[in-house]
Amino acid sequence: MTTNPSCIFCRIIAGQAEASLVYQDALVCAFLDAHPVAEGHVLVVPVRHASGLQDLDEDSAGRMMVVGRRVAAALRRSGVPCEGINLLLADGAAAGQSVFHCHLHVIPRSAGDGFGFRRPLGAGRTPSRPAMDTLAGRIRDSLEGEA
Ligand SMILES: [Zn+2]
Repeated sequence: MTTNPSCIFCRIIAGQAEASLVYQDALVCAFLDAHPVAEGHVLVVPVRHASGLQDLDEDSAGRMMVVGRRVAAALRRSGVPCEGINLLLADGAAAGQSVFHCHLHVIPRSAGDGFGFRRPLGAGRTPSRPAMDTLAGRIRDSLEGEA
């Protein structure tokens, strides 16, 4: 297990910091967010320290999604207000990541709860097909070598 002693999530996984545990296995750990945006807000984190998506191995990434899906189903049965669920992973400070140990938020949602995303001015306009095809090609080319 790779841990980072200065990382709060590594300390939680090692049992050196408090958390309210929801689930743990060899690859991931899930616990309540200490600063929830809604009651029942859970974080699913890889056991092995990875600061962001680029450091995250694919087995842990896949397990995070599997466990996130199960936690979402459990939240719907748990009695917390939960008309919907957001799965959210912020990768990088510009995306809103504040703890640099990769984590998947599982957030119960209710109509009118006030949580959400703002779209920048002009967002949502459909680009031309040639512009989209060119961009898709650049992304396809960039995918080569990813494993
Ligand atoms: Zn860590």
